Amino acid sequence: MKMSIFDLSLKELENFSARCSGKKFNARQVMKWIYSGSIYDFNKMTDISKTFRKKLIASMDTTLPEILNSSLERDNNGLSIKYLLRLKDGETVESVFMDHGKRKTLCVSSQVGCKMQCIFCTTGNFGFKRNLTSGEILAQLLVVKNKTGDKISNVVFMGMGEPLDNFEEVKKALDIISDANFIGIAPRRITISTCGIMNRLSEILNGSKYKYKFAISLNAVTNSLRDQLMPVNKKFPIESILETVNRTKPSIHNKITIEYVLIKGINDHIEDAKGLIKMFSPRTVKFNIIPFNNPEMNLNINYERSDDKTAVEFGNKLVKAGFTVTLRHSRAQGINGGCGQLKSKNMNIKNITAV
Ligand code: SF4
Repeated sequence: MKMSIFDLSLKELENFSARCSGKKFNARQVMKWIYSGSIYDFNKMTDISKTFRKKLIASMDTTLPEILNSSLERDNNGLSIKYLLRLKDGETVESVFMDHGKRKTLCVSSQVGCKMQCIFCTTGNFGFKRNLTSGEILAQLLVVKNKTGDKISNVVFMGMGEPLDNFEEVKKALDIISDANFIGIAPRRITISTCGIMNRLSEILNGSKYKYKFAISLNAVTNSLRDQLMPVNKKFPIESILETVNRTKPSIHNKITIEYVLIKGINDHIEDAKGLIKMFSPRTVKFNIIPFNNPEMNLNINYERSDDKTAVEFGNKLVKAGFTVTLRHSRAQGINGGCGQLKSKNMNIKNITAV
């Protein structure tokens, strides 16, 4: 069976090239055609020898996932398009393209489903199927770029799945996404959102100078409430988040974002905002406040969205304490609220929303 070329890192393709053509540098040429030039037909890669092209044709597959469905919504900020993509094995994932003028963001999935079971999340309610390969992550960018004709300027890992639970593949995809010779999206324009896999995040932040942006989905100021909303809290409680965040010394451009989904009567009291102010410093974090998006499907999710007045008061309290706060007003927040909230096949996907 042929191997998907999108699953190969530069080094892996260089090894293949060295074996087949004796010219390691052919790998860079092939990747440039694919990721920068959107050329997937090896025969059109004219700076590569015919012999090597034949070897590529015989061994490598360049088929991209098929778009099964898409839905578009416009709001004051621009438009959002949600794509349902079918992978080779028939599994499906969603990616959301948000076109806000110069800023064209793609929200990508990292897994089919999710193990983390956050109680307010649609994806979490459907369980876990499998990890995506790096090629399947990259393919989401390629399919959307080909379909819209737009250059994607920003990427957020807030689609289906927990990216730090599949970080090897995510990292492999990121190397190509951020390489200026290939997809070329600057690391500061790439955000990885985690529900709080703190050992992994801590390792990444403590490693060599980290370059991507990270967001932690917090959603509660007490362990008892966070235990209920996000089972991951039993393994990585709030103290572990604080320990990591407070040890991190971010530059002004890569402060950690604390995501907080506001759920009516559950975590949206002014006392909760005061709790956040006590826990964090404006020097190290900023906030993304996201009123909960009621799922359109009949899931076992019995929470309601906080009203706009409560959300504004909550956000203002944080602003007055010196924090940078993004408050998502539109009903579209479900697309990238916290992480996840995307669905899979056999589900109604018509009601997509924008940030
Ligand atoms: S919010 Fe994110 S981590 Fe939690 S279940 Fe949903 S996709 Fe998984």
